[in-house]
Amino acid sequence: MTSRRETTGIIASWTSLLLWKQIAIALVLGAMLGIALNMTGNEAIAATIKHVGTLFISAIKMLIVPLIFVSLVCGMTSVSDMARIGRVGVKAILFYLGTTAFAITIGLLLGTILQPGAGTDLATAAAMEAKEAPPFINTLLGIVPNNPVAAAADGNVLQIIFFAIVFGLAINLAGKPAQPVRDFFESLNAVILKLTEIVISFAPYGVFALITWVAGTYGLDLLLPLGTVIFALYLGCVIHALVVYGGLVAVVARLNPVRFFQGVIEPQIVAFTSTSSSGTLPVTMTAVERNLGVDRSVSSFTLPLGATINMDGTAMYQGVAALFVAQAFGVELGMQQYVTIILTATLASIGTAGVPGAGLVMLSLVLTSVGLPLEGVAIIAGIDRILDMARTALNVTGDAACTVLIAKSEDQIDTTAYDTPHVMKSPELKDV
Ligand code: ASP
Repeated sequence: MTSRRETTGIIASWTSLLLWKQIAIALVLGAMLGIALNMTGNEAIAATIKHVGTLFISAIKMLIVPLIFVSLVCGMTSVSDMARIGRVGVKAILFYLGTTAFAITIGLLLGTILQPGAGTDLATAAAMEAKEAPPFINTLLGIVPNNPVAAAADGNVLQIIFFAIVFGLAINLAGKPAQPVRDFFESLNAVILKLTEIVISFAPYGVFALITWVAGTYGLDLLLPLGTVIFALYLGCVIHALVVYGGLVAVVARLNPVRFFQGVIEPQIVAFTSTSSSGTLPVTMTAVERNLGVDRSVSSFTLPLGATINMDGTAMYQGVAALFVAQAFGVELGMQQYVTIILTATLASIGTAGVPGAGLVMLSLVLTSVGLPLEGVAIIAGIDRILDMARTALNVTGDAACTVLIAKSEDQIDTTAYDTPHVMKSPELKDV
């Protein structure tokens, strides 16, 4: 039996750990427990543990609308140079599109080299309906909300971004009479950041529960038949993160890439286990500002935008999955089809919501664009959660990399904070 003193000691050393270490330990322990539960036929226990994860995800989702709105309004009111907002927007969109096209190309290359679909029999798969691509003009027209309260209630991120930008702009233009509103938002922002910190401190428990559930549901057996698809995507994500993001941070921003990866570990693990880049947004914002010293005037804009439109992991997944389906059905693809995949997967990834499984739905669009059978979607669906974990982690890493690059180019990054080792800890709840 552990004595009371030992238990208190364990609790004290656990709470004194940095948050990322707590999350990493939770990830490993949860995976081990999940596999054990699966091997002993106790999947039901894993499904029960999942409730804790669901609670955590709901709590971070609860923060999204107020966090985006308030921090973007404050971001706007803290910028004295209005032209900067336009510049940051253009840079972000260029970065997001460029890296996405790159990611699909890596996916296609790995799909060609590793041949994930060779030897897979898709004959028994169920038929699927293709998803219609939403007309692009609707997406553009939909950015201006009819009703900002409805936009907030629906969690429509692009509409919230638009309203927050014009609202912040109006505060700036209104000048002195708007000072109380500006002060109110500053103070509200402090409250929301505190709330975010409190919710994030529960990340280790949420991560533990979610990974236990995934490992408990899938176990090891189910992963093996489609192991090459999983391997190709995971390898592609690692290559893209290290070479493209690490390279851009080192060469273009001239910052230490190791620090970058250390600084984004919390959002990466939360994205990996929650499979929602929108849901991870509060964690990404906190990490980029606190660990990497990025000024809020950049991150409050680029991160919500990135969580909505920038999905490099999703795009890469669509490249790998399309090749998997083509190979499994023995369909030869020509150069023109490769280019079509790159274009449609880029558009599909922009239109993909940052929620679990959204990329799978959009996959039907990519397959249809090159005439591939949709039955492939059904096979991929069986392992989609595992693929979703890697692509979501890459999605949020891309948003953070873009933010660091733009912040550096705009001189909006505190390089001393960037170079200082990790700071994120659980908040001191005893102060509350
Ligand atoms: N789950 C991904 C995300 O939230 C989207 C996807 O399914 O590809 O970023």
